[in-house]
Amino acid sequence: QVLISSQITSLQSLTSHSEEEGNMAPARILITGCNRGIGYELVRQLIEQRNPPKQIIATCRDPSSRQNKKLIELAEKYPKVVVIKLEATDANSINEAVKEVEKHLNGAGLNLLINNAGIMPDSTLESADSADFANVYNTNVIGPFLLAKALLPFLQKAAVENHQLPLSCSKSAIINVSTLLGSIAKAPESFAAFPMLSYRCSKAALNMLSQCQSVGYKASGILCTSLHPGWVQTDLGGPNAPLTVEKSVEGIIKVLYSLSEKHSGILVDWEGNVVPW
Ligand code: NDP
Repeated sequence: QVLISSQITSLQSLTSHSEEEGNMAPARILITGCNRGIGYELVRQLIEQRNPPKQIIATCRDPSSRQNKKLIELAEKYPKVVVIKLEATDANSINEAVKEVEKHLNGAGLNLLINNAGIMPDSTLESADSADFANVYNTNVIGPFLLAKALLPFLQKAAVENHQLPLSCSKSAIINVSTLLGSIAKAPESFAAFPMLSYRCSKAALNMLSQCQSVGYKASGILCTSLHPGWVQTDLGGPNAPLTVEKSVEGIIKVLYSLSEKHSGILVDWEGNVVPW
């Protein structure tokens, strides 16, 4: 994966300094899977910025669990962080979460949805079965789809509120956290070392979802993009990953602030490079 990452850096970077300076922080953001890993670090770095968002709605599966203490502590320290319960594989939980979101938005639109929650079980051509595929698709594809669909009125509202802005995360956007391993073009180079069959297929499907959303929601003023966070030291990425979660998220935030119409319906990495899919 290190080799592949270095290959992507030779691809054209779409992030320019002037764009980073030009874009404002999205006012209201919802991020899934915030009790650990990339999701937690996104909430922490976004809220600790000089000009933080007005509101960050951070979801996790069990806000009452002691294991999720650090997210709750962050929300206690920063009242702009609201924690709500969301289980991505359960449509009822998504609907209940959206009711809570509506209460917290209190009439405002939602500028940015980051579908971050995801799983990567061991899975190979030999071991994968229907239960493995169903579980991974429910979490990595169907959950993000249902959540975006349920939040669409709030994303549309944010786009209307910011009608003067071009397509951007400050206006209205759906960012689906994907991976290089979901790239069909890159699979021949990495499959032997990183099989993760069901995960790869689910993220390729998530990329298709981003593309379809980008076409379907463009007229509503909503930017839709897939984002590869790099290979990151989290429970999912493992200890051998080259990137710390702090470094990955620093890059992700810069990229989020730089995204514009030309990033609609593509896969972009944490450094702003386009990844072929
Ligand atoms: P972690 O394993 O550290 O965290 C995963 C998060 O997703 C946790 O908050 C977890 O909650 C949540 N989650 C898992 N299943 C569900 C579910 N059914 N409903 C709601 N929440 C759920 O992973 P990362 O932070 O590393 O990964 C975040 C995203 O980044 C994922 O989409 C992943 O595919 C992507 N990614 C990560 C890479 C890496 O190297 N780390 C590389 C490329 C992409 P809980 O604690 O309750 O399980």
